Amino acid sequence: MRVRCVFCKGEMRKGKVNVPVDLGDRFILIKGVPALVCQECGEYFVSDEVMKKLESIVEEAKSRNVEVEILRFAA
Ligand SMILES: [Zn+2]
Repeated sequence: MRVRCVFCKGEMRKGKVNVPVDLGDRFILIKGVPALVCQECGEYFVSDEVMKKLESIVEEAKSRNVEVEILRFAA
């Protein structure tokens, strides 16, 4: 079954994205996150499993006192 983008109905394919997380006083960029990426508009969708992992990465990053941090998603 093909997955279609909810915005433009473009085809979604497996790929990697960079996810920016703006926490106000802090900014985290998580690179290489596995996701389904729209081939037309670049919108992406991550699975619940990946989302949970992202949340734990963000929580961990919050414990460090760094204003800008660039992290790599490790599966
Ligand atoms: Zn799209």
